[in-house]
Amino acid sequence: FTADTPESGDHNRRASKSLPLGVTSSFQHWDPYPISIASARGAWLTDVDGRRLLDLSMGFGAMLVGHLNPTIVSYVEEALQSVGTLFVTPSPVSTEVAERFQRRFGLDMLRFTQSGTESLMYAVRAARAYTERKAIIKIEGGYHGGYDALQVSVKPALEDIGPAEAPIPDVPFDVEAGTVHVVPYNNLERLTEILHEHGREIAAVVMEPVIENLAIVVPDEGYLAGVRALCDEHGVLLIFDEVKTGLTAGYAGASQRLGVKPDLVTLAKSIGGGLPLAAFGGTEEVMQVVVDGRMAHFGTYNGNPLVMAAARAVDDICTHEALDAAETINVATLDAVDEIITEFELPAHTVALGVKGCITWSPTPVRNYRDYKATDFGVAELSWLWGVNRGILTPPGLDEQWLVSLAHKQDQMDVLVSDFRELAQALRS
Ligand code: PMP
Repeated sequence: FTADTPESGDHNRRASKSLPLGVTSSFQHWDPYPISIASARGAWLTDVDGRRLLDLSMGFGAMLVGHLNPTIVSYVEEALQSVGTLFVTPSPVSTEVAERFQRRFGLDMLRFTQSGTESLMYAVRAARAYTERKAIIKIEGGYHGGYDALQVSVKPALEDIGPAEAPIPDVPFDVEAGTVHVVPYNNLERLTEILHEHGREIAAVVMEPVIENLAIVVPDEGYLAGVRALCDEHGVLLIFDEVKTGLTAGYAGASQRLGVKPDLVTLAKSIGGGLPLAAFGGTEEVMQVVVDGRMAHFGTYNGNPLVMAAARAVDDICTHEALDAAETINVATLDAVDEIITEFELPAHTVALGVKGCITWSPTPVRNYRDYKATDFGVAELSWLWGVNRGILTPPGLDEQWLVSLAHKQDQMDVLVSDFRELAQALRS
């Protein structure tokens, strides 16, 4: 790795003098240093050493439409030439995108923000304002951005979790004790118990409908419907964090694909085509908290014309047909990888949702955070490094997964498959 990437190493040393760890988000760092990218187009990255890398990370899923997608470029250019960059007043450009999102995601009302973190913060605040309750429930090990209340139990060490009744691990200092409860994913019993004990204090259950920060963890049959029913029983709002699943799970997100409707949803990444766009929205009844002032929502850059132009382009580009075509490529890739896993009897599983897929090096399929922690991170790391050294960039570690963007073609995914076959042969030899 280091022999192929001397310029990235130099760049990281230089960048570390101005940026902590030499990166602009802690997720961008890996050991010994991350690859620095000079430019990108379509499904390809060019690093500062001049190497071409097949990008399967695609901006953690934000680049679903592909790098420098011509439609995004032309809409954004048009906005730059003849619309403007910021008005901080209402404008038809933001209303039009709101109406498109209303239709696409089946939302009564929504507001724009810049990041998933912000959207989650406001969704929790809206739920608290609506229910006049303070506590929330989140999923063990789940990640929802940097908001304090959701920084509880984000990938804790297993020894810190203990039995299900043990105190919540890694609670940030400004989260009041007892205001965040943690339940394992795919476990309705524990959720039932907590709601039975604390239901009257709980404003919302916050969860990714399909967890995409622990590889990909899909719900058991009936699990999400069970969560929905328990929330209704206790007057608790259900917040689906679709920052990652969003358009990558299908035309209108995981909730529509899986047929369970939350009260509030958070969106980010793929909806902005690479520009900083996020949103939170939901039923008219809950969003009334913003209308009548029970909760205020601010943001200088919300709904600015550049980002709105990109969002319009994304909505135009991400048709059923385009997303289905990318999903077909993903399914074919998964099938080919599965065959290799079977042929070489590897202790691994594949999981997919929409245009995303992943290989989990675990003895059993992963159903929750504890299963995820039982995966073989050594082999996962090796498998990632194997790809990177052969010009394929997937996100490091097991937290992310590959994404077949609208710019990827089957023959590019075939490269991933042949690379995986060579890895399987090497592991077995
Ligand atoms: N929720 C989920 C599920 C996420 O994966 C992320 C980011 N990876 C966030 C929220 C936070 O989004 P952002 O980085 O835009 O703040």
